[in-house]
Amino acid sequence: MDVGKLRNFLRICDVKAPRDQPNALAAGVACPAPPIPPPPVSSIRDPTSIMWRWAIPIAICHLLALAAFAPWFFSWSGVVVALLGFYVFGVLGINVGFHRLLTHRGFSCLKWLEHSLAILGVCSLQGSPVFWVAAHRRHHHHADERPDPHSPSVNFLWAHIGWLLVESGVFAPLGWKFQYAKDLLHDPFYARLERSCVWIALGSWLGFFVVGIATGFLIGGSGLQVLQFGASLLLWGGIVRTVAVWHITWSVNSVTHLWGYRNYESEENSRNNVFIGILAAGEGWHNNHHADQRSAKHGHLWWEFDGTYLTIRLLATIGLVNGIVMPNSRLAAARVR
Ligand SMILES: [Zn+2]
Ligand SMILES: [Zn+2]
Repeated sequence: MDVGKLRNFLRICDVKAPRDQPNALAAGVACPAPPIPPPPVSSIRDPTSIMWRWAIPIAICHLLALAAFAPWFFSWSGVVVALLGFYVFGVLGINVGFHRLLTHRGFSCLKWLEHSLAILGVCSLQGSPVFWVAAHRRHHHHADERPDPHSPSVNFLWAHIGWLLVESGVFAPLGWKFQYAKDLLHDPFYARLERSCVWIALGSWLGFFVVGIATGFLIGGSGLQVLQFGASLLLWGGIVRTVAVWHITWSVNSVTHLWGYRNYESEENSRNNVFIGILAAGEGWHNNHHADQRSAKHGHLWWEFDGTYLTIRLLATIGLVNGIVMPNSRLAAARVR
């Protein structure tokens, strides 16, 4: 990896005074994206500042995801499993579990369901629940300011993936996870996941391979056909799906702080982006979300489709969820007309 290019990615911006109330709505006054200083440049000169422990697995997964399109690995069954996995691990695990429940407590449910949703999120290989929640709460607390781990005020690539590849110092202060996610760390279930989450995710990938092998035997395939089908389900159900959900989640961090429209003049540069809004099942109505972070409903206008909220509603209909937090009724008055 070219460290010089990474340095260029992170070159920019003058220092700006921090805001006292980062998430308060400005009273009808437009607030352009504030520039933020780059991460410590001295550390970027050092190749050891690249977080190889994350960069290498991310690179390997992308290569394997590309390999899945080779004819030998491709199967329509794999594509269907990937789409189902997108909903189960992406929408249920990340959107419903990690984001709207664990981070913002936008609804309530029994512990067994909360923990099950957390396990589904873990299988998306986006880090432990504590890491994800702490990083996201830090983003909300300091959105588009220096402590924001992934602001596109640095640049698009930094917000999208760079913050996961280069040691920037934003996570350096000891105890940042405890500061932002101590409620989770007090639960022994989440404390244990700090050590085991990667193995759970890899185990779920292995599960796709085993199911593929078993299905191949049941339908009477030859040894090579059975292996081929198992490999196809592993690549599509596990790796292609994981990489796709990565980029969708990362697009919420990058795209929806750059491009789109604003319903509310919040103090950061969050945007509602139609493409990401639909693709990410409602997570792309990001300006609405920044304006009213606890609300479990991110689509505020009738046409802002929010598949994640509809899923939460469905869970409530069958009695698994209650206490759904709806958009603040006073918020509509602050909406940009
Ligand atoms: Zn944001
Ligand atoms: Zn959020």
